[in-house]
Amino acid sequence: MSGRVYQVTEFEGAFLECLISAERIQARVAEIGRQIARDYAGKEPHLVCVLKGAVVFLSELMRHIDLPLTVDFIAVSSYGSATKTSGEVKILKDLDTSPAERDMIVVEDILDTGLTLNYLVNYFKSRGVRSLRVATLLNKPSRRLVQVEADYIGFEIPDAFVVGYGLDAVQRYRNLPYVAVLRGAG
Ligand code: IMP
Repeated sequence: MSGRVYQVTEFEGAFLECLISAERIQARVAEIGRQIARDYAGKEPHLVCVLKGAVVFLSELMRHIDLPLTVDFIAVSSYGSATKTSGEVKILKDLDTSPAERDMIVVEDILDTGLTLNYLVNYFKSRGVRSLRVATLLNKPSRRLVQVEADYIGFEIPDAFVVGYGLDAVQRYRNLPYVAVLRGAG
């Protein structure tokens, strides 16, 4: 186990089990950044971070992309307060700038059912992007409900609810430097 573990009152009796250490995440994110820099050589990618979960991934990833680039943020809600998906997608905060004619890379924290990303991909296409790829830190392929895939994947993980490195459970645990399975949270 690397990093911190702490108790949160909402999750009394629950515990964290480290799944991916901070060191492994850092190494993999750097690798993806270098890959993106190679794939987009001569271009200026537009990174769109899906708030809030992907903010830690974005901030690490973009420092490993040695190219001119721009960033924007979008916030969507696809989950209620619990640890289960509602399947509903709603834009809470739209992009600040038009993505028309841009080479967009959507930066996601986790690809689970795929409902959120599927919605976003269609939305960004409708706004005239020149090209669109997806980078996700985590992928849970066993949970997919719609056909949507990422182009850059940090780690494939099993069907478990995870927190840390930006991912939350009721807004907690985003600051953990590693990814952990939240066990016993009901
Ligand atoms: P999807 O629409 O089911 O693919 O879910 C995507 C969003 O659900 C992610 O961007 C996360 O915010 C959230 N999510 C899915 N699985 C987890 C998890 O294991 N932990 C924390 N958040 C999750």
